[in-house]
Amino acid sequence: MIFLKKISKIIFLLFVIWNPFLLYSEDEVTVSKLRISSIQGGLRVIIDADQSPAYEVFSLKNPNRLVVDLAKTNFSEDFSFPATKGFIKGIRFGSFNNDVSRIVFDLNSSVKKIKSRVRKPSSGSKRTLNIDIENYINIRTLNEKNKKLEKKQIKNFKKKYSRNKKLTIVIDPGHGGKDPGTSYQSLISEKEIVLNFSSILKKKLEKVGYRVYLTRSADNFIKLKERVEFAKRKGADLFISVHADASKYSSTRGFSVYTLSKKGLDREAEKVAKLENSLSVFSKKGLKGINLRDARNIKDQYYIDLAFDRAKNSSTEFADILVNKVEERSELLTRPHRYAGFAVLKSPNYPSVLVELGFITNDNDRNNFGNRNWQSSVATKFVEAINQNFQ
Ligand SMILES: [Zn+2]
Repeated sequence: MIFLKKISKIIFLLFVIWNPFLLYSEDEVTVSKLRISSIQGGLRVIIDADQSPAYEVFSLKNPNRLVVDLAKTNFSEDFSFPATKGFIKGIRFGSFNNDVSRIVFDLNSSVKKIKSRVRKPSSGSKRTLNIDIENYINIRTLNEKNKKLEKKQIKNFKKKYSRNKKLTIVIDPGHGGKDPGTSYQSLISEKEIVLNFSSILKKKLEKVGYRVYLTRSADNFIKLKERVEFAKRKGADLFISVHADASKYSSTRGFSVYTLSKKGLDREAEKVAKLENSLSVFSKKGLKGINLRDARNIKDQYYIDLAFDRAKNSSTEFADILVNKVEERSELLTRPHRYAGFAVLKSPNYPSVLVELGFITNDNDRNNFGNRNWQSSVATKFVEAINQNFQ
């Protein structure tokens, strides 16, 4: 123990799994093989021996290592170290003393958890020592790797889908049924305006080859959650929620587009995770299918964040394109691209925006809403923006 105390000054001893009873075994153990395999959340080191080995396993930091000490052990003639795998970047013998053979695994991240046990396989008298290692993900390395990968994927994604596959656009006419949205002197309500515009946009998009779905095509009330579910089910490549705004100032007018704010996003990553439960939130275009019920570890949380980030970035990109296009045909609100925590925007599956076509409380905007020419030309600008987005 004095020796251990001494080295703990230099290195940081994390975990010790010690089997003192077995350490005093009389017989020599012969180790024939060492294997590494992937398991959920980490790696398993498997040591094949002819009888139960007396062993000790612990991890060290700076640099990160896993140490396996085996008492009174011989290694068979054909014994060799396997190839490295995952976060194990090197395997070697470490000197200790005559009675103990030390195997050192050099790791590129620190150890979170070690579990070890000796098993007796169903056939033969052989024993295996299984050491399960769960590691802490090196988020920085992962980040750098993924940034590169992500850029490539986005490029490939755009190429692939613009050439081979019909892109799916889900248009979400806001409100409906018992929820009229904003209204003007009970003459006209938002739910009618947005359904009208959405239907025109749908036709135009279909004409140029998109697959288009409306979350509602009649005066129905649909819950926000169901709209999001619908888009996911349809495999949306883009989600556009269409609304019309109202203001107490009748002079306020113009088009605006909303994307999700960071604030709403973080909270929602949590909520979506709960809501989705065992369902995978990621569409086929997502980075990785993750069972959210188990999405408790850092790695999964990282992928969820990444997916949200990616959806947010492409939403922002599209919102800017859309604003520029619509500006050619319609008045814009000051700061036309805004950020908010709308429920319908909170999905990591696809980019999503919420547009406010204008203000029902402004005479010019309201007239536009009822003007076939305005509707058609603004819808055309939407189509141009969508084309440009997927170019
Ligand atoms: Zn609305």
